[in-house]
Amino acid sequence: MAEVLVLVDHVEGEVRKSTFELLTAARALGEPSAVVVGAPGTAQGLSSALAANGAEKIYVAETDRTDFLSPQVDVLAALVESASPVAVLINASADGKEIAGRLAVRTDSAWLNDVVAVSANGRVGATHSVFGGAYIAQAEAKTEHPVVTVRAGAIDVEAVAGAGTEERVEVPAAAGRGATVQSTEPITGGDRPELTEASVVVSGGRGVGSADDFSIIEGLADSLGAAVGASRAAVDSGFYPHQFQVGQTGKTVSPQLYIALGISGAIQHRAGMQTSKTIIAVNKDAEAPIFEIADFGVVGDLFQVAPQLKEEIAKR
Ligand code: FAD
Repeated sequence: MAEVLVLVDHVEGEVRKSTFELLTAARALGEPSAVVVGAPGTAQGLSSALAANGAEKIYVAETDRTDFLSPQVDVLAALVESASPVAVLINASADGKEIAGRLAVRTDSAWLNDVVAVSANGRVGATHSVFGGAYIAQAEAKTEHPVVTVRAGAIDVEAVAGAGTEERVEVPAAAGRGATVQSTEPITGGDRPELTEASVVVSGGRGVGSADDFSIIEGLADSLGAAVGASRAAVDSGFYPHQFQVGQTGKTVSPQLYIALGISGAIQHRAGMQTSKTIIAVNKDAEAPIFEIADFGVVGDLFQVAPQLKEEIAKR
């Protein structure tokens, strides 16, 4: 069976959940091969989790190179040439999209972006959720080995063990044309899960009213082990930092559970969260559009509802 390359997204010695989703998606197209690119010694701690989640082969490309994202592009381009995979799957994060765009140009391949499902029917097919989830679009790659960036949270992980056979890969020397990264500092919400990876997201909108009162959103999020998100109105009002904005011009999330408090549900906000599996909305306006897409709705004041919710959760 033909190979499907999956670029492994890892941080601090752990494989991100989105990679397991890619390994699951890859099985619809062929045999998943994980590609680990990182500093020497990186793969050691990742291999067992990759094998347990379906990697038949694990390409290990370890390097001291620090030129931003270029090692990933170089390694994948070399593997596309040598392994001739059915497709290359990459997480649709900001970095993933940059790698994908560069790789597609380098390998003269199609790029299917922000995909929520993949299929094989002679060619590689992709499903996109567009216009805030109002339409489902089907696309098909017309080139060999297309690059496919998959939306985090869109695929349910099915852990089927793979052989996990390791193969060392030469990392090409830096071409010297790119920038060099001096240092990187991940911006996270402290101990909270990364927004696009979290299985639960609690978001606040303009209805929260102030930066100080966002502690209510954070408190509820912490009781659920959730990430915190915000609407653009909340961000623009200075209630919460921009990197937590959900929506068309923010991050796209697709968690198991999305709780929206004091968010009206504008189309641009929905664009970033409409594919969440279960949506709960708390809004004091019964006519707020967020209720159109909510699975459960509470018409009420978030300052009363959120603390009660937190208290109930603490009892369990
Ligand atoms: P509002 O629309 O003001 O809604 C606040 C809600 O809180 C109301 O429904 C109100 O009833 C409720 N409320 C108030 N007090 C309480 C209370 N005490 N308890 C319970 N409920 C209460 N928006 C995004 O979110 N993300 C984006 O990425 C984004 N991109 C955009 C891109 C473009 C090009 C444009 C034009 C707009 C974009 N927007 C985006 C903005 C979007 O159109 C909305 O303006 C924004 O989502 C509104 O945020 P909100 O729901 O928090 O605020």
